[in-house]
Amino acid sequence: MKIGIDIGGSHISSGIVDEYGKIIEKEVEDISTINIENEEKAKKIIIDVINSQIEKLLKKQNYEICDISKIGIAAPGNPTKKAIRNLVNLKIEYFEIGKILENKYDAIVNIKNDGKCSGLAEKKYGNLKKYSDCIFLCIGTGVGSAVFMDDDLLEPKVNTGFEFGHMIIDKKGPECNCGNKGCFETYVSMKRLKKEIISKFKLKRDMASEDVQKYVRQNIKEKEVDLLVENYINNLAIGVSNIINIFEPEAICFGGSFSYYSDIFLPKLNKELEKYVFNKDIKCDLLCTKFKNDAGIIGASII
Ligand SMILES: [Zn+2]
Repeated sequence: MKIGIDIGGSHISSGIVDEYGKIIEKEVEDISTINIENEEKAKKIIIDVINSQIEKLLKKQNYEICDISKIGIAAPGNPTKKAIRNLVNLKIEYFEIGKILENKYDAIVNIKNDGKCSGLAEKKYGNLKKYSDCIFLCIGTGVGSAVFMDDDLLEPKVNTGFEFGHMIIDKKGPECNCGNKGCFETYVSMKRLKKEIISKFKLKRDMASEDVQKYVRQNIKEKEVDLLVENYINNLAIGVSNIINIFEPEAICFGGSFSYYSDIFLPKLNKELEKYVFNKDIKCDLLCTKFKNDAGIIGASII
């Protein structure tokens, strides 16, 4: 039996996943309200949450520890096969969590970047299944990705690569967390979009993402809202067309919290791309994720 774990900045989720990519049982824990003082405390919290989630999963499905054959972990940034690295939100620089879990559960533990895991889930079981040259683009707090050519995930040797979020689309643009200016993600991250909508339309500063989304949907015909969305789509199209011009994918599947807007945004993006895609004979389907927040768990179970 396989377990997939998704370590995010605000949540840790674990699930038992079957051989068809279906989640049989799932546990989710919000860790955003926990006060993480230092790296040691963060490591303890992560391990404790994972152990308790695995214990609950086994109990609910009447499994024993010895039934676990494999544990996969989806983690942000540049994890190694056995360690998570540079989790800024969780104050972790390096944590060899893979070894600890291998000893405890006597099972193989593998770790991979979360964007790659989610992409693998869409490629194997989801909306990218029928495409051989395709891309998964996860737009949330940042931009994650996975690129497939001839059905294979492209993997550079040192890091996870394909940092589309830090592709500079305007060298005089806003400052990015990475220290550069005008990175793609400073224009298209959902965090930025939410912030812009709240400040422009003077909404409550702590408004939930769902309510911001509702506001956009209800007011999409208003000139100012429409203008903001058009501007967002234009920046998105610049970055996405660069990606299309380089890889010529047959499809791009969009995940992350972007997917909650995809019915409004994707048709507009499709039209805007006509301006920027170089080879006019390229036909790239724009799709929305099948698994939404579950993609990380499902993908982690197959690494
Ligand atoms: Zn950047």
